[in-house]
Amino acid sequence: MSTVISVSGLHKSYGSNHAVAGIDLAIEQGEIFALLGPNGAGKTTTVEILEGFRDRDSGSVQVLGFDPATKGRAGQEWRDRIGIVLQSTHDAGDLTVLESVSHFAKYYESPKDPHEVINLVGLTDKSNALGRTLSGGQRRRLDVALGIIGNPELIFLDEPTTGFDPEARRAFWQLIRKLRDEGATILLTTHYLDEAEALADRVAVINRGKIVEVSTPALLGGRATSLATVSWRDGVELRKEKSANPTALVAQLSAQFGGEVPELNVKRASLEDIYLEMIGGAHE
Ligand code: ATP
Repeated sequence: MSTVISVSGLHKSYGSNHAVAGIDLAIEQGEIFALLGPNGAGKTTTVEILEGFRDRDSGSVQVLGFDPATKGRAGQEWRDRIGIVLQSTHDAGDLTVLESVSHFAKYYESPKDPHEVINLVGLTDKSNALGRTLSGGQRRRLDVALGIIGNPELIFLDEPTTGFDPEARRAFWQLIRKLRDEGATILLTTHYLDEAEALADRVAVINRGKIVEVSTPALLGGRATSLATVSWRDGVELRKEKSANPTALVAQLSAQFGGEVPELNVKRASLEDIYLEMIGGAHE
């Protein structure tokens, strides 16, 4: 496995605002990596430095073997290996979906087949529809199609599923997994904890320009070993107990009640519980 993105000691300030305050990251080939963090945490700034759209103040950055600030001798060749889906949508309202995707394909050395890409993002029915007639979620899917038409090795997705209905989000997650399975590396920012949980191999929680923790969604913040909350009804009273051994507690309750425990519930911390704890006090 090779490292596709490596970042060390990254800093970026806007005036006195230290937006990125010393970030280290290593993202491996073939992983889906999510950046999670509240508004203003520094995610977009970090990602745009990696994309070569913003300059950094200090630190070292390598993306696909090149420093995006100089791009070495790679230039356009380096850019062609990268697919970018920005937060804002493209404005290609007067072209059809097929025309837009085919047009973008011409910019690349070895693009994917436009029909195949349109099918991948689930817009085949809309191939001949004008961009401006698409719904918000359909436009977002067109953005994704334009981001992947160049057959990129590395894909940046900035809040890709904003405006998607639940079914479209699930279809989109399948698409992203498919691209990963074909060998692409994916870096996404998202505000949806369920999206990070369903999709990401690893997540980094970023807050006030610093990384709080990098882990798998299952292990983040000691989640797997956190205390479970067991609750049940005892007559008129709803009882609740935190336990490191919920199975033993449930067995004890079962014996006590002689079988079924009324309204039994065992709950471990969700990714959202852990995340909110980690960024506690960050909201302005
Ligand atoms: P969001 O989740 O809201 O997209 P983010 O984590 O992507 O937030 P950034 O956009 O990187 O956060 O912003 C980090 C900080 O830098 C914020 O305080 C923001 O106001 C500031 N900032 C970002 N871009 C600029 C800019 N061009 N000029 C001045 N300040 C900026």
